[in-house]
Amino acid sequence: MILDKQVIYLPKIGPKYKSLLQNLEIETVRDLIYHVPFRYDDFSEIKNIADLVEGETVTIEGSLEKIDNIFTKFGKKITKARVKDNTGYIDIIWFNQHYIKNNFNQGETYRFGGKVSTFANKLTMIAPEFEEVEKAGKTTSKLLPVYPQTEGVSSKWLRARINDVLSAVKQFDEFLPETILNKHKLFPLDNAIRQVHFPQSLETAKKARDRLGFDEVFLELMKVEQRKKLWNEGIQPYELELKKHTKKIQTFIKELPFKLTQSQETAVQEILEDMEIDKSMNRLLEGDVGTGKTVVAVIAAYLAILNKTKVLYLAPTEILAQQHFITFQKLLGSRVPELVLITGSTPKKVGSAKIIIGTHALFELKEPLEDVSLIIIDEQHRFGVEQRTKLIDSVNKQSGKRPNLLTMTATPIPRTLALTLFGDLSLSVLGKGPNENKKIYTRVIPDKLRKETYEWIKNKNEQTFIVCPLIEFSESESLANVKSAQVEYEYLKDTVFKDVPIGLLHGRMKSAEKNKVIEEFKNQKLQVLVATPVIEVGIDVPEATIMVIESAQRYGLASLHQLRGRVGRGEKPGFCFVFASDTAKSSYERLKHLETNQSGLALAQIDMKLRGQGDVFGTLQHGFKRFKIADETDLELIEKAKKAADQAFANLDIYPSLRDILKGDYEKHIGEN
Ligand code: ADP
Ligand code: MG
Repeated sequence: MILDKQVIYLPKIGPKYKSLLQNLEIETVRDLIYHVPFRYDDFSEIKNIADLVEGETVTIEGSLEKIDNIFTKFGKKITKARVKDNTGYIDIIWFNQHYIKNNFNQGETYRFGGKVSTFANKLTMIAPEFEEVEKAGKTTSKLLPVYPQTEGVSSKWLRARINDVLSAVKQFDEFLPETILNKHKLFPLDNAIRQVHFPQSLETAKKARDRLGFDEVFLELMKVEQRKKLWNEGIQPYELELKKHTKKIQTFIKELPFKLTQSQETAVQEILEDMEIDKSMNRLLEGDVGTGKTVVAVIAAYLAILNKTKVLYLAPTEILAQQHFITFQKLLGSRVPELVLITGSTPKKVGSAKIIIGTHALFELKEPLEDVSLIIIDEQHRFGVEQRTKLIDSVNKQSGKRPNLLTMTATPIPRTLALTLFGDLSLSVLGKGPNENKKIYTRVIPDKLRKETYEWIKNKNEQTFIVCPLIEFSESESLANVKSAQVEYEYLKDTVFKDVPIGLLHGRMKSAEKNKVIEEFKNQKLQVLVATPVIEVGIDVPEATIMVIESAQRYGLASLHQLRGRVGRGEKPGFCFVFASDTAKSSYERLKHLETNQSGLALAQIDMKLRGQGDVFGTLQHGFKRFKIADETDLELIEKAKKAADQAFANLDIYPSLRDILKGDYEKHIGEN
């Protein structure tokens, strides 16, 4: 079947395009078809060249009489093309883009869209959009799809390849039940696929897109239902004893260096009870930075230990793994003498340890692990579903028992998403944290006040983080403004902070070096720490009170909120100074929300509105956009798809096409005749 074939199977796609397409996450013909336009250029009103008026934005169509690259006497590079239709001609001009000439063939017909202006006293169009007019019969539509493109793969090329496929396939088979189609007024699949690429009108384009977006959410929610059902089906769970150990656990909690907050207590109770029942736990512990998730995990781990079983703790970075290892050791003390830390720079040996804390290196353990009754995953969004599954599958191979799973996240997840896309997880939420009443005083600082800000920091004389996004100075133009930690460090240590002990921390340092720097910062031997966002979810330095964030426009607000959560953790109030390396008003206004808003959840929602889901989690985290087409922030869509999925999942026996898709036979049903 054509849709499941690799794209290389298509005419005009060889190894070169195959690999270029991978940059757009296009591997199969289906991926190509689901690569939908992000806009359409409307060529429906084509103007006669003779009727053009200065200042208008228009589309014209005509044949290209000639095109030349010219150097003016002032050394400017100009490309000039003459375009002619039945009513007259016009010259089109590009500056400093001599390469553009290669896009044209003399004598061919093109459309140009843009503003009419004057140059050397003549009407002209300067650097307009352009499009070769497709040979007759290819498309009847005047709406030309514009695709997300990548270097070497133009929108026009994509359009032609997609057109090839659509011509070759007679009909794309429907897989949604008619009741759902009717109830939600959805376009039939075949219609949707064709109209999304070559629509009759913008209205049909939108409906087509809506249908395909619905499919994505609907199928995802069906999978959620399925995961929920399968989590406990046919597996052997742990039945951990709780009552027998309640007293010990209570004593442990009483002896902690602090009193648990109300929501920590509730979460602990929910988790312990969930571990006790004869089902396997699959729970998400959600709480803003500093709400105290770690100690909740420690208590859960203690229950596993009391039951003479083991605990696996997966952290996203080495720094975090190390910190958790120390926290676990400190809090549990002699109760659990055997803990081990497994990272890229330690031996991968577990030995007789009962609590195993580590990074990705945990995936490389050679020895089989048995008796693991609890797996804890910190910052769960950093790990894919596959990685989680892999970790679960890697333990208890002999007994076949399914460990309890506790995932933790500081990323605020709006309630609707929690109930839908995470609907297979139970949820515990940490509300008010121990330091909640302390606001972090935040200011977005224009560059001209930079000097004053540094002065203020020096006078304040407290420990300071300076966070920069990249390690080395980037040559690439789009990143030219980005301050790199390395460069910034070199600069600051010789100038502004000449007399202040200052250090550098980034992810590419050797771990011994990293540890040394962190240790020195914790011991207050260093006063200022220039760092990449490796510190984002990590270090706990209660004395640090000031955070400077450079190039902040590159991050999502929720990420920025997590970053600033690193300061003001102790007694003294925290300060956060935000700099943007672009001057866009929109960046500034977006960042301003940090000044007035101290809730991670509210900030995430603002970002969703402003930037869309893909960016809520910031540029720090990759690959989080779940859907290619659907907008994850479209609550109406999600609720609609949720209703449909609930109904369909309960009636799978009458919807064989959906049952097959869930079984993994996706191919069988988004097929063609
Ligand atoms: P996060 O939820 O961001 O992982 P941590 O677990 O690292 O937060 O806790 C942040 C800090 O708050 C730690 O220093 C921890 O010891 C402290 N902490 C946790 N719970 C409490 C509490 N109930 N009272 C006071 N301090 C607490
Ligand atoms: Mg944490």
